[in-house]
Amino acid sequence: MVGSNVEVDATMSLNGSLANGKSVEHLAVADVESFDPTAVVAEPVPPVVQANNEDVTEPDADDESTGDKDAYMASVLARYRKTLMERTKHHLGYPYNLDFDYGALSQLQHFSINNLGDPFIESNYGVHSRQFEVGVLDWFARLWEIEKNDYWGYITNCGTEGNLHGILVGREVFPDGILYASKESHYSVFKAARMYRMECEKVATLVTGEIDCKDFKEKLLLNKDKPAIINVNIGTTVKGAVDDLDLVIQTLEESCESRGIRLEVHVEGVEAYLIVMFLGGAPKVTFKKPIGSVSVSGHKFVGCPMPCGVQLTRLKHINALSRNVEYLASRDATIMGSRNGHAPIFLWYTLNRKGYKGFQKEVQKCLRNAHYLKDRLREAGISAMLNELSSTVVFERPRDEEFVRRWQLACEGNMAHIVVMPSVTIQKLDYFLNEIIQGRSIWYNDEVQPPCLAADIGRDNCSCALHK
Ligand SMILES: *Cc1c(COP(=O)(O)O)cnc(C)c1O
Repeated sequence: MVGSNVEVDATMSLNGSLANGKSVEHLAVADVESFDPTAVVAEPVPPVVQANNEDVTEPDADDESTGDKDAYMASVLARYRKTLMERTKHHLGYPYNLDFDYGALSQLQHFSINNLGDPFIESNYGVHSRQFEVGVLDWFARLWEIEKNDYWGYITNCGTEGNLHGILVGREVFPDGILYASKESHYSVFKAARMYRMECEKVATLVTGEIDCKDFKEKLLLNKDKPAIINVNIGTTVKGAVDDLDLVIQTLEESCESRGIRLEVHVEGVEAYLIVMFLGGAPKVTFKKPIGSVSVSGHKFVGCPMPCGVQLTRLKHINALSRNVEYLASRDATIMGSRNGHAPIFLWYTLNRKGYKGFQKEVQKCLRNAHYLKDRLREAGISAMLNELSSTVVFERPRDEEFVRRWQLACEGNMAHIVVMPSVTIQKLDYFLNEIIQGRSIWYNDEVQPPCLAADIGRDNCSCALHK
């Protein structure tokens, strides 16, 4: 017995040749095309059908002998793989580098690799990848200029976990501290504040999306008697804005020095962070400054098949936070219990492959392509903004929700954005540009005008009827 939803789909996906999921030969024609996520697909792309859920169905008693169940599952997976390929080709809105080749690591799939506990302390569970994890951490420690003996960190399950950890470190160091974060900070920062029941001050931003240090100073002065824990964004989610770390620190010092309040900065930088690091120019992120922790995602700019991240903090802070756990024969200082042991190997693999220079090249390519995109949008009369040190192009939200879904654009109010990652090629951008220009000729006419984005991205970047 197979669930009806799935059965119907599986039948359709093989053009009806699979009557009732019975023919094994037909199923062997599972997708054999080679996968090139950068290739431009010939039009027309089939409309994306809202996927039915893949019900779990109980095996029949004779499945072993008939092979029906295997055949059925193979067909479901083949269809799913096709969807993934199509969706990968039309992906522009999220900061994920979808371009990687980890074929050499497929041999590790057969192992249940788990790094539970502290990366620096051997646990009793032997099927781990701590040696790779610490290797990756050491690489980031060098990037962020902190000595091996002075840092602690781990490979997290995502950027959010890094933020949860970094902010927890801040709170353990300053239990009555107030968390300050610009209002354009990632939602995980405010989630952390809620989870930890911390007092949290939202700071205003400039039109670029950077933290407004004037407002920051006012808020600091309102809370003179309490320590400050600051979340600094190096690449905000929507606009890719880079907070001026040096100005933030200076503002803190000016408003704290007379009271002798210690300060703690948590730097949260996700995709743009690495971009800034490989470009130079912006205030450098280094543990030589009064930074308590830094967190980045591993599956964004670097690219990884599973979400992951890197979190680094000062070793001296971690002792306040950790507990020894006899069951693990290790120390518990992480947010999660079991930890993905595969992710560090993927990161290790890419870091070895590309190295600092390789990333630098990719960053330059991303910025060139981002400028190309912004220029072409503006030429076409479309409001668009690109921050310095960023590859996130913010532009007018397309009027057609189907178009938004098709290109997987992340939107906020009148804004949409494209994050130009290494997997976003000029061909892909041209393909997108042609479609949006064509779309606009249908969406807009004398009666319906494009939205005004002056309040979102500034007058100079707005091409609405009033500001062009
Ligand atoms: C993506 C992102 C996060 C969260 O990362 P996840 O890996 O999705 O949990 C946090 N901050 C910023 C600025 C981000 O772009």
